[in-house]
Amino acid sequence: MGRTVVVLGGGISGLAAGYHLSRAPCAPKVVLVEGSERLGGWIRSVRGPGGAVFELGPRGIRPAGAPGARTLLLVSELGLDSEVLPVRGDHPAAQNRFLYVGGALHALPSGLRGLFRPSPPFSKPLFWAGLRELTTPRGKDPDETVHSFAQRRLGPEVASLAMDSLCRGVFAGNSRELSVRSCFPSLFQAEQSHRSVLLGLLLGAASSGHSPRPDSALIRQARAERWSQWSLRGGLETLPQALNTYLTSRGVSVLRGQPVCGLGLLPGGRWKVSLGDGSLEADHVISAVPASVLSKLLPAQAAPLAHALSAITAVSVVVVNLQYRGAHLPVQGFGHLVPSSEDPGVLGIVYDSVAFPEQDGSPPGLRVTVMLGGSWLQTLEARGGLLSRELFQQQAQQAAATQLGLKEPPSHCLVHLHKNCIPQYTLGHWQKLEAATQFLASQRLPLTLAGASYEGVAVNDCIESGRRAAARVLGSEPNS
Ligand SMILES: Cc1cc2nc3c(=O)[nH]c(=O)nc-3n(C[C@H](O)[C@H](O)[C@H](O)COP(=O)(O)OP(=O)(O)OC[C@H]3O[C@@H](n4cnc5c(N)ncnc54)[C@H](O)[C@@H]3O)c2cc1C
Repeated sequence: MGRTVVVLGGGISGLAAGYHLSRAPCAPKVVLVEGSERLGGWIRSVRGPGGAVFELGPRGIRPAGAPGARTLLLVSELGLDSEVLPVRGDHPAAQNRFLYVGGALHALPSGLRGLFRPSPPFSKPLFWAGLRELTTPRGKDPDETVHSFAQRRLGPEVASLAMDSLCRGVFAGNSRELSVRSCFPSLFQAEQSHRSVLLGLLLGAASSGHSPRPDSALIRQARAERWSQWSLRGGLETLPQALNTYLTSRGVSVLRGQPVCGLGLLPGGRWKVSLGDGSLEADHVISAVPASVLSKLLPAQAAPLAHALSAITAVSVVVVNLQYRGAHLPVQGFGHLVPSSEDPGVLGIVYDSVAFPEQDGSPPGLRVTVMLGGSWLQTLEARGGLLSRELFQQQAQQAAATQLGLKEPPSHCLVHLHKNCIPQYTLGHWQKLEAATQFLASQRLPLTLAGASYEGVAVNDCIESGRRAAARVLGSEPNS
């Protein structure tokens, strides 16, 4: 009898793992178990008035690097090429990003010339931060917070304005707590290998051009047109939906509404996967549920692993989608970020209509998304007070009015509190991963970890984690 692999979680990581398992020449029997009634996890797109698309989770995927190219390959293999909405390199959404500081929007410098010009809110041209970076010695610690790393190499302004905002934009997190080694591994490795981040990125980019990359017509088009990101016409949820259709066509059992409530080890090293009203047996389990969820499912024999995983926490984000009739933005770009010193609760605003006007509906209406979170939300959650839709909507509308001049009431508004949606790779995250890897290897547990909790939260990273987990199970990559 062939092997059975059970994949826990039907977010993009679990779906990607199932996809790569089911395509293998000698594919095992695959069962994917999702706790909710919906597949896709945080990837969720809903239709509004006139067919407008509102993303409740991710809204753009970057095509850069090998993982970006592999996601485009996946899109082509699923037959979605004609659905892709690219943001080309010459588009304002690719070129312009803003910071909201001191009550005003400031364009971040782009291109080499921008580095030599005065660029408020920074007091000096960013060339000086670059010069400091090139002359700063290599750090000696095995890990460092993003803030400390940026302050040491680029100076206090870049640390407290740019990197603070970036951490809020990508991780909804605090740069004084997040790990540079785990959140921005390319920066950390560039310093380690070349002493300077700038040199390392320049030389690394030159040498990475020689490594084999996947190739397809879509990948070549993305490269030729210098796409900064892309979406899908009906929203990014089209991707998990297409993966589900594919999995079903390959005979994968996709179970929905079946939260896994425990994992037990059977004699002979097989797993018993307990569901609410039954159980499954598996030769191997790929976990693509959050680390904190897995930590509670593991049996007593795996207590050290559960301990390491339970330390990987996550933060909540409130996503407020707003649509305005007859309104205009004061600037054209991808969106703006807000450093914590400016506003502890507003992480930033994405100008969805600039990047993807095709999703504005008919008649078109201006769509923006306000992301709320940070210490403001953490304090509210810790106090256990009422986290009301009205409070979040009011906060978001006020931010859109103050920061973008959108003073009229929106014609449409969606408010979603996503609890614990973004894992936090805090200082020392790498040690938690190492403890987990060592335990799995020493105990020879037939368990492989995938998902946003470990080595990257972006959709590309999650798909890559699912692909690598499948490769390990199939024996084409070591289980590390
Ligand atoms: C608001 C927001 C905006 C984002 N924006 C972007 C962006 O623009 N670009 C980008 O690249 N990335 C973005 N991301 C990050 C990216 O979307 C996520 O990191 C990624 O979707 C996570 O996928 P995952 O499959 O690892 O986890 P999840 O999506 O969390 O999937 C895990 C699945 O496991 C299921 N599950 C949980 N417990 C159990 C159980 N006991 N039994 C069975 N199933 C269970 C859950 O229901 C869920 O479906 C964003 C994330 C958020 C929250």
